This record gives sequence, structure tokens and C-alpha cells, in this order.
Amino acid sequence: MLTMTYQYVLKPTRQQIETMTEWLNVCRGVWNYALAERKDWYNSRSCRIDASSIKSEYIIPADTPRPNFALQCKALTEAKKTKPWLKSVQSQVLQQVLKQLENAFTSMWEQKRGFPRFKKSGRMRSFLFPQFEKNPIVGNKIKLPVIGLLKMRLSRPIPEGFILKQIVKKASGWFAMLSMQCDVNVPDAMPHGHSLGIDLGLLSFLATSDNETIARPKFFVDAQRKLKLLQKKLTHKKLGSNNWCKAIAKVAKFHEHISNARKDFHFKTAHHLCNQAEMIFAENLNVRAMSRGMLCKHTLDAGFGQFLNILKWVCSKRDVYFAKVDASGTSQTCPNCQTHTGKKELSQRIHECPSCQYIADRDVAAAMVVMQRGLVAVGHTVLMLSEGKVVGLPVKKESPSFNKTSVARLV
Ligand SMILES: [Zn+2]
Repeated sequence: MLTMTYQYVLKPTRQQIETMTEWLNVCRGVWNYALAERKDWYNSRSCRIDASSIKSEYIIPADTPRPNFALQCKALTEAKKTKPWLKSVQSQVLQQVLKQLENAFTSMWEQKRGFPRFKKSGRMRSFLFPQFEKNPIVGNKIKLPVIGLLKMRLSRPIPEGFILKQIVKKASGWFAMLSMQCDVNVPDAMPHGHSLGIDLGLLSFLATSDNETIARPKFFVDAQRKLKLLQKKLTHKKLGSNNWCKAIAKVAKFHEHISNARKDFHFKTAHHLCNQAEMIFAENLNVRAMSRGMLCKHTLDAGFGQFLNILKWVCSKRDVYFAKVDASGTSQTCPNCQTHTGKKELSQRIHECPSCQYIADRDVAAAMVVMQRGLVAVGHTVLMLSEGKVVGLPVKKESPSFNKTSVARLV
């Protein structure tokens, strides 16, 4: 099952903005209260028996059950009787806050994530909806409980079978997130056609087994510089002053812009690759291991994981077979004779096989190995490249372009 989220700009009225801001505040209050309850319970249990813990024992009796989703939902219903402000938010939306908290705890236990944190003012940026029974879209409006009909800018047609997931407040305004799920169809026939292996790069964004490298957009380098500049300006402003608030908003807006531009670049690159092949194979990046490893690929571009998800999605939409293969040692194998060539230094940009003298760009050679592994995995026999064949270095093509005009205006 594959999930993709689309975002649509909302055009709320002033009244609606007021209501939604109020909702975020109430959600934040519920989150912090429920988190405090859980935290207190844990603290009261983590004290050693012999240590004097009169205070926590006094507050929480020993037989109090551990606060969980069901118990906290019940407590919420109770609390509404004495705290009428809780009633201003649709009750299922508040329950979703408790659900998110439960999920945060589960991922802390199961995936060793950090302890959930309290949310300061302004840090609660979205509220979630449970699944609606009816389609909430009416023309170019979306119908939300209590809030009513909200105008939406239909930047793209609304996909069939979507569900409204959440409303998000960003630096540039309010958004509706619609998500849709798509069953990845298992191909009936053996994957066939032209195959492409890709290697996510350190210097270039990626290299393909067809001898193409796609450059990391220069835009991101410039953007980082501009971002630093904006942040530096921030330090000269008086904390909490009007100008400081304005500068903060500018930084947040720029962050959002970078993330949009990156996503756009990822989509365009994915389509560009799908134009060339019927099968695409990529490395199975272990992002967690990578962040610990010395290469730390993802520190250069935090978007590799996102790119692979988008590529998978675009492939499924365009009937291109997509699979990930084991990435270990791809840069240490000769694509021509499969000889293990040993570790390459980062500065060594050319693959030159000591055994068969095959020469290729280092990343292109790795992409070829990725493709060969993929082909073997789907049951193809891999034809070896002709022995001793020397290929030229990759053709530098311009990476897919995206809209840069609004950046210039911002900074
Ligand atoms: Zn070789």
C-alpha cells in the first residue's frame, strides 16, 4: 500500500481563521495536559522503592492504571463537563490529538524515538480528522464540521478516492492535506523493457546506468546561503520585537519554499527517469544506518528518502516497474567483470577496473551494478558488458528546472 499526500491552499474567512487558530490552541492544551498525565505516571513509577517519593506517591496512588488512549478519551469526555472551552472543538478532532500522543509513545517504545515533547505556543500546527463518511468536497470548497464551508484553491484536480487527513497552518497560510492510497499492482508478466539503475550520489544528485548524471540543483546551495543570511539578520533583532517576529516569519516562509522546491525537483526527476525506462532499480538506502555511518549521505540532502518515495509513486502511476536492491558494496564492484575492486576514496571519481581495465564514472558504475542486481532479482540473466570496453564519461545534462522567481522576491 502506497500513500501520497497532496496539499491544497485554503482561503479561509477571517472568522474561520479565528476558529481554526482557537482549535489549534485547544488541541495544544489537550496534548500538553495528556502528556503531563502520562509523564507524571511514569515518574511516579521510576522512583526507587527506598528513595523517598512521598510526593509522587501522594499524587498518584500505586494502583492507578497507566494512562492510555482509551482512558484519556474517557477523561476528556468527563473534563468537558467542567471545562466548556473544550467543547469548542469537534470532539473527534480532540480524540485524534490523544491518538497522536498514543502513537508518539508507541514509536518511542518500538522505534526507540525520543520522549514526546510538550508543545509551546505556536508549535501545534495541524489538526487531524478521522475519516469522513461522506465526501467533504463541494465544488471548490471543503466542508468541515463546525468550521463550515472553506474555499480551496484547486491547484490540481482532486484525485479519486482521497481522504482528508489534516488541516495545517504553515508560514504562508492554511492548507488542506488530502491523502490517497494506492494498491501497488504486482505485475502479471515478468518485468520487461529497458531497465535503469540509479545511484544516489554524493557530488551529483544521482547517476543512472545509462551514463547520465543529474546535478544537485544549484538552487539549494544558494538557498542555504540565503537562509544563513536571514538567520543572521534575526540575531540583530530585539527578541520578541515586531521586527523580530517579521524576521522569524520570513525564515519560516523561506524554509517552506525550499521544501516545496525540493519536492518539485524530486517529482520532475522521477518523471524524467520514467520517460526513459520500463524498469527502475534503486539502492535500498538505510537512512538510519547512514546517519550513523561515516558517509552520511543524507546530511548532504535530507531528501533522499522522500525522493525514493516519490519515485516509487510516479513509477506506479506510469506503469514502470520499481524495486529496491541491496546497496552494499555497489561502488566496490566492477559492472563489467563483477570483480571486487576494493574501497574507493571519495575523491576518486573514476572507476577503473584493475582486472578488466573497464573505465566509467564512479557513480555510473555503481548505478550499473544496481541495475544488474535488480535484473537478477526479477529473474533476468544479466549480459556482461563487452570485455575491455571503454565508455566515455557521462553527459552532463541540466537538471529539471523549477520555478525560482519567487525566491528572488523573498530575499
Ligand atoms: Zn572489471
